[in-house]
Amino acid sequence: MPTGSYSLQKNHTVCSSGGGSCGIKAIVFDLGRVLVDFDHRIAAKKIASFADKDENEILGLFFDSEITMSFEEGKLSPLQFFLKVKEMLNLELDYESFVRIWQEIFFFSEKNRQVYELALSLKEHYRLALLSNINALHFEYIGRAFPVFGAFHDIITSFQLGLIKPNPLIYQKTLQILQSSPEQTFYTDDRAELITSARGLGIQGFVFTGVEQLKKDLSCLGVKP
Ligand SMILES: [Mg+2]
Repeated sequence: MPTGSYSLQKNHTVCSSGGGSCGIKAIVFDLGRVLVDFDHRIAAKKIASFADKDENEILGLFFDSEITMSFEEGKLSPLQFFLKVKEMLNLELDYESFVRIWQEIFFFSEKNRQVYELALSLKEHYRLALLSNINALHFEYIGRAFPVFGAFHDIITSFQLGLIKPNPLIYQKTLQILQSSPEQTFYTDDRAELITSARGLGIQGFVFTGVEQLKKDLSCLGVKP
């Protein structure tokens, strides 16, 4: 392989410009399964004991459904979301107890810690942003429970913007906030379809598979922590 070219995995394009010349100014990280891990089943299992549906039905109804998307898009307030869920599942839970169960699905793994430390060191030299499809309750909880937000200059969330990834508008808005051009912006996310959408705008998107891969992708564009 010639110097300055770097073959990447399947949905990545080839970076042929080599170290330094891509001129990356801003770096955008996804949050879920990159900086914090989570398991929706933890909540589904607990909720099942207060509902007339089982854990798997709750998972299907709840997660990645229209109602959770509306919540992530900021179209429903936390209370409105709770009332809809309560009705859907015949839930015998008060709002506060529901919120606690809904929130306590996150953990900070060794992988997350390594990504966080990488972000902290990148923050010294680059404009760093977090871009997350997230609802208000999860956002509040993560801010309280984990250190991750401190590694970023900008925290950009779907519920605050009223837009969710992979809508190209959320990437355009992000570029505006960062005052960065697509080609000077690096973006990593664990979901390939979100990277594909961002790449459609010319953003330097790379699927997150682990911290070592991320370091290689950054280095391919001349970014050094
Ligand atoms: Mg994610």
